Amino acid sequence: MSSATPGREAPAWRTATLVGDRCETPDVRTLLLDVPGWPGHLPGQHVDLRLTADDGYQATRSYSIAAPAAGERVELTVQRLPDGEVSPYLVDDYPTGALIEMLGPVGGWFVWRGGDEPLLLVAGGAGVVPVMAMARAWRDTGSRAPLRLLYSLRSPDQLFYADELADLAERGAGVLLAYTRETPPGHDRPAARLAADDLAAHGFPPGDAPHCYVCGPTPFVEAVGAALTGLGHDGDRVRAERFGPTGG
Ligand SMILES: Cc1cc2nc3c(=O)[nH]c(=O)nc-3n(C[C@H](O)[C@H](O)[C@H](O)COP(=O)(O)OP(=O)(O)OC[C@H]3O[C@@H](n4cnc5c(N)ncnc54)[C@H](O)[C@@H]3O)c2cc1C
Repeated sequence: MSSATPGREAPAWRTATLVGDRCETPDVRTLLLDVPGWPGHLPGQHVDLRLTADDGYQATRSYSIAAPAAGERVELTVQRLPDGEVSPYLVDDYPTGALIEMLGPVGGWFVWRGGDEPLLLVAGGAGVVPVMAMARAWRDTGSRAPLRLLYSLRSPDQLFYADELADLAERGAGVLLAYTRETPPGHDRPAARLAADDLAAHGFPPGDAPHCYVCGPTPFVEAVGAALTGLGHDGDRVRAERFGPTGG
């Protein structure tokens, strides 16, 4: 194994084994994979998974790494798209003990490298996965950076990582759950899309110069990015990851 800085190694194909899982919601499964030779990674990086059918047909999809580096363990959280090709297999059928090809770690821009500067994480739907890796790293390292996490989702049954988000709030992070269609009983924010008002009220003022990470479906990322710069945040401090056209 190389001793290079985690996350800076060139991505390489390896064979991963599913060693455990967690059900986050009925549509969402966290996969715990052991990857011999894994060089480590940075919060925000992703992997590509490649499936090969008996007839040689291959499908490759990207998945964000959900947790900070921990030896040869890689944790992914996959949301089933009912009409998707790969995600239904990963959520419903991929059995414990089975092998899968993995390329990674991928990405060097949408990563949080630590530090004390304010950290603003904004996620839509499954976009919460890589920002959760950052929030978990914040927690695990005892970071002194002020942290605010704004998470847009359709309805309470789509909430990932509920207990850990509550724990983050107890540790002093600001956590806003912005439901877009249906709220749980007693939730004080009415159902609505995440808007500039939410970012102004629950984010940081531009003068605090936070590092901003925005992840989710493309229209969500574009709307939040525009709202942040419209509020006066420096576009150079806003980093975005797009998951494609579908999602929260
Ligand atoms: C960097 C990155 C990180 C990601 N991280 C995660 C993650 O952590 N968790 C996660 O759940 N997902 C993540 N994704 C999304 C993931 O890569 C897949 O796109 C997702 O799982 C859907 O794959 P699928 O094969 O199930 O669906 P696909 O078969 O690819 O279909 C996706 C959607 O596109 C539609 N579609 C497919 N083909 C067509 C077509 N020809 N014309 C029109 N519409 C079409 C389908 O109806 C479906 O709704 C990430 C994506 C990127 C780029």
